[in-house]
Amino acid sequence: MQQFYKNLSIWLLIALAISLLVHYCQKAPERAHTVTYTEFLHKVDSGLLTNVTVIGNTVLWNSSDGTLTKTVVPQSSDALARLLRGNVTVLAEEPSQPSWLLYALLSWLPFLFFGLLWLFYFRRSGGQSSGGSGRILAFGKSRARLINPEESKIKLDDVAGIDEAKEEVAELVDFLKKPEKFTAAGARIPAGVLLYGEPGTGKTLLAKAIAGEAGVPFFSISGSNFVEMYVGIGASRVRDLFNEGKKRAPCIIFIDEIDAVGRHRSAGGAGSSGNDEREQTLNQLLVEMDGFDANDHVIVIAATNRQDILDPALLRPGRFDRQVMVPLPDVGGREKILKVHARNAKIDPQVNWQVIARGTPGFSGAQLASLVNEAALMTARSNQPAVTTAILEAAKDKVLMGAERRSLIITDREKRITACHEAGHALVAWMLPGADPVHKVTIIPRGRALGLTMQLPEEERVSHDRAYLLATLSTLLGGRVAEEIVFNQTTTGAGNDLERVSDLSRRMVCEWGMSETVGPLTFRVANPLAGQPGQIMSEQTAILIDGEVKKLVQTAYDTARHLLVEHRSSLDAVTAALLERETLSRDELEVIIRTNAPG
Ligand code: ADP
Ligand code: ZN
Repeated sequence: MQQFYKNLSIWLLIALAISLLVHYCQKAPERAHTVTYTEFLHKVDSGLLTNVTVIGNTVLWNSSDGTLTKTVVPQSSDALARLLRGNVTVLAEEPSQPSWLLYALLSWLPFLFFGLLWLFYFRRSGGQSSGGSGRILAFGKSRARLINPEESKIKLDDVAGIDEAKEEVAELVDFLKKPEKFTAAGARIPAGVLLYGEPGTGKTLLAKAIAGEAGVPFFSISGSNFVEMYVGIGASRVRDLFNEGKKRAPCIIFIDEIDAVGRHRSAGGAGSSGNDEREQTLNQLLVEMDGFDANDHVIVIAATNRQDILDPALLRPGRFDRQVMVPLPDVGGREKILKVHARNAKIDPQVNWQVIARGTPGFSGAQLASLVNEAALMTARSNQPAVTTAILEAAKDKVLMGAERRSLIITDREKRITACHEAGHALVAWMLPGADPVHKVTIIPRGRALGLTMQLPEEERVSHDRAYLLATLSTLLGGRVAEEIVFNQTTTGAGNDLERVSDLSRRMVCEWGMSETVGPLTFRVANPLAGQPGQIMSEQTAILIDGEVKKLVQTAYDTARHLLVEHRSSLDAVTAALLERETLSRDELEVIIRTNAPG
């Protein structure tokens, strides 16, 4: 694209030069001052003209003040006779034709300009997502990026910690390498594979690795690129993409965020104009996938983190009938992913990856990758020879909580309130047996938060019990409660906490059946983002649910208040320590709390 802009500006310069040239090449007559024929006759008759030049029907002379002057003589006039009669010297010149070359250039210039303009727009709509190693399909309309086998360096070895998912797709590599072997044996290879899982778990990476390992072209496009404002564009893009794919078979077509097109058809705001378009695009996708046969040797891999909202039609046999879950990595997986990304960095031999992995539960592969990258950057910035454990810890905080904003100006009072607020969170989490242990408390502003209490679960949990969720509610409320106890007032700082409290408590009642009064029923809450309408329920039920949610929050609130009142001296001590040191580790907290224990 850059090259194109360069070309465009060169062309414009040339055009400018030509027009300047044209201007200066113009013969004298074009530049002369014009007077009327009557005035000219008047001058002749009064003897003011002594010599003139006649070119065609134009008469030129130098007027008394020296300016070149001209007039155009009417066809049937006796101008010549009158000039001769008036004793004027007449020089006749052959009229000169404008150079044909100039003429041609002049008349073609507008076309040239519009041609360039058209080319420019064409190129732009041809592919917006330039850059990276991918090449834009110059004349396709599919907007897909193509990575040729020669360009791709990603192999299955680069994907770590998701071994089950890798195993499930391993045979695709063999198939793409030697499709004839499989078709000869009559084996049915899935045309479509759906990878689903949280963002950043390596779905794109896995798809690229399959292509890289098999040495086949990799087309990639995001589902949101299909859906445009105009009806029909998405469908034609799908058609284009599959045509391109078939031409380059064997190959992989990767569709990221398939939920953007493949959302359940009844979901989504009815009557929105995007709906028709999405449906057409989805239908085209289904048609193309049904049209595949085993000899096409094209494998479509789609990725989503919202597998639950996909249209069931997409998942039918012959379409995306193989679904592979790509989970968040467990502790062993995290260690492997960290090591994969540490391959090219200089790492202190003291670093124990197992410990780092244990301290990063819930991290996705992408977060682990950015942790290592961030640590490498910090190492370089501080001119240290190798990445140490301490740097990795700092990088972890940065990935988790966003960059520190030390420059943010905070008044002393705000700082005191923040310290008290965070101390409240930390203490409640510390005291409640069910809550996740506190990892670190800080009042250094990061991202949008003024302070932060970081908790890390002991181990990964797949499901949560009621006690744990109640402890989480109490911890979230702890900040606000501490402010109330110490300052006898509340600030807006607790806004985000309260949002999470309402969300969690409502889900406890409506999704997980944790209220005895409402009972073990689920009530789908409206989720406009996912296009889910709320479940229709009676007004009594709605009131009942509201009451139960309130009761849960009140219980959690009372627990937090009780704890903090009882441990007031700890609360004050932690607040003071935070004001002094800004960040407290788990060990430092333990010392403070132990020395201030009541009784
Ligand atoms: P997704 O497509 O699931 O959202 P990506 O594949 O785009 O996630 O992951 C983003 C980046 O995170 C990858 O390019 C890679 O650097 C890193 N990453 C994610 N998962 C893994 C993994 N399992 N092994 C190694 N690196 C990973
Ligand atoms: Zn808070």
